[in-house]
Amino acid sequence: MTPASRAECAALDAADPLAGLREQFDLPDGVIYLDGNSLGPLPRTTAGRVAAAVTAEWGNGLVRSWNGHDGGQAWIELPRRVGDKIARLIGAGPGEVVVTDSTSVNLFKALSAATARQRGDGREVLLAETGAFPTDLYLADSVARSVGAQLVTVEPDRVVAELTGPLGGQVAVLLVNHVDYRTGRMHDLAAVVAAAHAAGALTVVDLAHSAGAVPVDLLGADADLAVGCGYKYLNGGPGAPAFLWCHPRWHDELTQPLTGWFGHAEPFAFSPDFRPAQGIGRFLTGTPAVLSMTALECGVDTLLAAEPMGGMAALRAASLRLTSLFAERVAARCPDLRRVGPSADAERGSQVSFAHDGAFAVVQALIARGVIGDFRAPDVMRFGFAPAFLRRVDAWDAAETLADVLATQEWREERFRRRGPVT
Ligand SMILES: *Cc1c(COP(=O)(O)O)cnc(C)c1O
Repeated sequence: MTPASRAECAALDAADPLAGLREQFDLPDGVIYLDGNSLGPLPRTTAGRVAAAVTAEWGNGLVRSWNGHDGGQAWIELPRRVGDKIARLIGAGPGEVVVTDSTSVNLFKALSAATARQRGDGREVLLAETGAFPTDLYLADSVARSVGAQLVTVEPDRVVAELTGPLGGQVAVLLVNHVDYRTGRMHDLAAVVAAAHAAGALTVVDLAHSAGAVPVDLLGADADLAVGCGYKYLNGGPGAPAFLWCHPRWHDELTQPLTGWFGHAEPFAFSPDFRPAQGIGRFLTGTPAVLSMTALECGVDTLLAAEPMGGMAALRAASLRLTSLFAERVAARCPDLRRVGPSADAERGSQVSFAHDGAFAVVQALIARGVIGDFRAPDVMRFGFAPAFLRRVDAWDAAETLADVLATQEWREERFRRRGPVT
């Protein structure tokens, strides 16, 4: 049952066992932040931790901090240490995740590693989804062309059918976006991976819109490789490093082409020949971004803080409550607005999207009123619900504000048409 009034929302919020998680964030007054799926908010611990990393670890420790100076954490361990923490959010084990590079670069490494293994079987196709996040498609195309294979895209709904059909036997690697960035559509990961494996293909899963937002069970789904983003639901800060997971069955078999010294078995042997590290370490390339990883660790900790209250399963229940409430209120108040993406709980990530001819201007008008969502070309308004800091009253108020901006036609004002370089 969704609450029937704002007062009921406020009462339920006050009694919510997850309510305290919001205190972990430094949110500006007067803002309802529905864009944690583009840039997560600032955790309260981040400024202090990063300042300490700068002054104590860098300033005093100097180069000694790579090995952990004065009882501090060794910088060299950061990619694996933060990776192990992320593993707890995505159904992976310790030693299976590294934090490194950007999602785009990790896509290149993961797709290349999987494709190289599969091309021995004469398979010609990298299969991806029409409408996937563009960087995923650009990189899949680049990897395919580099080995003389071909990128083929199919509608997300058709992935399993294509794998089971005649194309299946030609697919080397399947790339899926677990949750679609525009529509919020979520795949049944276990079903998609099973279909890919039955066709003889390996799977690369992009978790950019699911890590930290919905429960992910990579080992349970038996996926092969996965990548994800540090600055979205993981709250790692602008440009935070990304992560890469590889199933342990492949650790010593797959190789990736960005063979930098940090992926070497013995980086400090300074050997002229590349020998890949055993295990997940071979997916590292160069020197880790220590300050950014320090900030990312603070962000990941905000989600691990939910573990005593039921972890990602509890956050997922909260997210579904919020997205249902928001969608229901918008449907009641703006019956003409067209919803984009699935309404069934099991098929929906942690966002609600609508299509509108004036989507860009409507989003700008909402931002001017303190309700921050975002616009995705060509005509989508996207509202992300990060359950660690959003309340029922926020969903309620955001729907009211949207209804008002549409009813008053406020969004038609000239000032809401101006576009910056980032939308
Ligand atoms: C946000 C996002 C990315 C971002 O990649 P960067 O390399 O961090 O710019 C990639 N893929 C998907 C699906 C995303 O949602």
